[in-house]
Amino acid sequence: EERDLMCAGCGVTIQTEDKNKLGFTPPSALDKDIVTCQRCFRLTHYNEIQDVSLTDDDFLKILHGLGEKNALIVKVVDIFDFTGSWLPGLHRFVGKNDVLLVGNKVDLLPKSINHNRLVNWMKKSAKELGLKPVDVTLMSAVKNQGIEEVASLIDKLRKGRDVYIVGCTNVGKSTFINQMIKAFGGDTEQLITTSHFPGTTLDMIDIPLDDGKALYDTPGIINHHQMAHFVDKQELKIITPKKEIKPMVFQLNEEQTLFFGGLSRFDFVEGERSSFTCYLSNDLQIHRTKREKADELYKNHLGSMLTPPGELSKDTLPPLVKTTFQVREEKMDIVFSGLGWVTVHGQNLKVEAYAPKGVSVTIRESII
Ligand code: GDP
Repeated sequence: EERDLMCAGCGVTIQTEDKNKLGFTPPSALDKDIVTCQRCFRLTHYNEIQDVSLTDDDFLKILHGLGEKNALIVKVVDIFDFTGSWLPGLHRFVGKNDVLLVGNKVDLLPKSINHNRLVNWMKKSAKELGLKPVDVTLMSAVKNQGIEEVASLIDKLRKGRDVYIVGCTNVGKSTFINQMIKAFGGDTEQLITTSHFPGTTLDMIDIPLDDGKALYDTPGIINHHQMAHFVDKQELKIITPKKEIKPMVFQLNEEQTLFFGGLSRFDFVEGERSSFTCYLSNDLQIHRTKREKADELYKNHLGSMLTPPGELSKDTLPPLVKTTFQVREEKMDIVFSGLGWVTVHGQNLKVEAYAPKGVSVTIRESII
């Protein structure tokens, strides 16, 4: 009779099919005396935390669990995709617990931007989204900028309580925690453990703090409204900015259109000649055309001139869906989740923004 194989590290059932799911182990590793899942293997051998994908249901259980703790919640968002990475329900679940809001990937924004202004923008936006964080700060986990500041804020704000790090996948939570371990962990192999999150099939990584409390890394939930789900790996590299974004400024008359590769389209429909600043990955090509020609261009050149998507992935790209915005105030951003945004410098304009069905497009007060 066959029995389920368990991971020697965390006890999860071993599986060899889906490397993004919990318990994955490459088949070649099954012959070893001690079998661990890849996540535990990487953790113990490389001190590296790997993400696992999570069902919405498990994630809800985690959120519910947080409200019952007495803890400091550290919420990490991706400043490049603020709303997309927000975790809308969180404020209803945290109960009385304090939330420290951390904007990651600040290295992607132009160096000229004023960090105080950005922090104030985050405070205001958080409030509009129903959350009142005790503090707001910025960091770049990849560049190791601001990590010490975050660590000392955590230490100040937690007041002897446990700490839970939350955020949706891809905000840079693992990178952040790995930086913290490097900076403060000491002998990490002994330090990091995993523990079971009540009510779910998930194990959390926890790092003991000096007073017997711990810092917990909660699993992230997938942000379904991002462009990332509609492109292949190679194309994802093109649309994900890696370095400081060089904004592209376009002076447009009404009835002009911009294509961002073939993934999004921006039409200036009505209004006086204005300037539009695009904050997108530097590797993503922008094509400008007359609005009357845009449909035809898209039909004939998607996957070739208008790329990504490529010749192959264009067939699975959902059709573009239009959202209309009346821009009344000066300096608003039209945001394409996971791709970037266009800052509109002008008043009383009508614009139309197109993104693949399922990708959210929103308007906000300009972040910069
Ligand atoms: P997690 O899913 O939240 O754990 O995110 P990861 O730590 O795996 O990071 C997701 C992606 O974002 C990776 O490609 C990272 O290299 C990248 N990333 C993480 N932190 C930063 C950052 O501070 N700046 C930039 N530009 N990229 C980052």
